[in-house]
Amino acid sequence: MQGAPLVTKLNSAHKTIVPLSDLVSIGGEEVVIIGGPCTVESLSQMETVARHLKSAPIQALRGGVYKPRTSPYAFQGMGIEGLDILASVRQRYDLPVVTEVMAISQIEEISAYADMLQVGSRNMQNFDLLKALGQANKPILLKRGLAATIEEFVMAAEYVASHGNSQIVLCERGIRSFDTYTRNVLDLGAVAALRQITHLPILVDPSHAAGKRELIADLSRAAIACGADGLIIECHPEPEKSVSDARQALSLEDMAALVRSLEPIAEAVGRKMYGRELVISARHSEEIA
Ligand code: PEP
Ligand code: MN
Repeated sequence: MQGAPLVTKLNSAHKTIVPLSDLVSIGGEEVVIIGGPCTVESLSQMETVARHLKSAPIQALRGGVYKPRTSPYAFQGMGIEGLDILASVRQRYDLPVVTEVMAISQIEEISAYADMLQVGSRNMQNFDLLKALGQANKPILLKRGLAATIEEFVMAAEYVASHGNSQIVLCERGIRSFDTYTRNVLDLGAVAALRQITHLPILVDPSHAAGKRELIADLSRAAIACGADGLIIECHPEPEKSVSDARQALSLEDMAALVRSLEPIAEAVGRKMYGRELVISARHSEEIA
């Protein structure tokens, strides 16, 4: 794309792989599944999620501790206390964590706890934040703005790259449209286009796109079929009780079933799912080392 020299693909084989940990990378042969609640609510909630999903298997945990809520009166996230919870679960369950950074002032603190910094849709064009994240020493998960064009999305990534950080993963999470039946419209056309335009890995977030749990499995399978490098999906031990985004939260059982259902789709498009053996044997060898 003109004007985006750093993130534009140079040839069809040009692909960036973004490592999340020693074992997990986004953009390689394996499709990556990131799961967890919209909001970190308690240690026991996050432990239950990690324990169940580790064997699904998912490869990374999500959970917001600084939440961009529509209403200033809605729960704004646990902040530093939530980061402590993420750090403890990350270590106990050997799962990399992804959490949202909303302000420049949070970058250093969050970088000390998380493996990947999420830029939420509402901040996709917060250019000062993007520039500052260019100096961060962590991979960035850049979510598409609520009404951002593909060009604006790519340019937002170029902001981060041009300030020094090329570890960027794009995330299509649905865009606003006229139809209110779904929360947003999942733009798989953008996924196909981004695969042509950029060498950056692309995740799909079917949760914020659909806004309804019963639509998420179908959208997930479509996303993998379309060439996405992975998914980030909201789930909760008691979905209806989620502090935020309850309507779109999957149960942990549904999440595990969804992961299993992706296998033939991944295979059909020449990809693989991370195996349970890999995660478990690596952990085992760490324990004996
Ligand atoms: C989230 O991931 O919980 C979130 C707020 O996502 P988005 O920025 O895509 O709305
Ligand atoms: Mn959410």
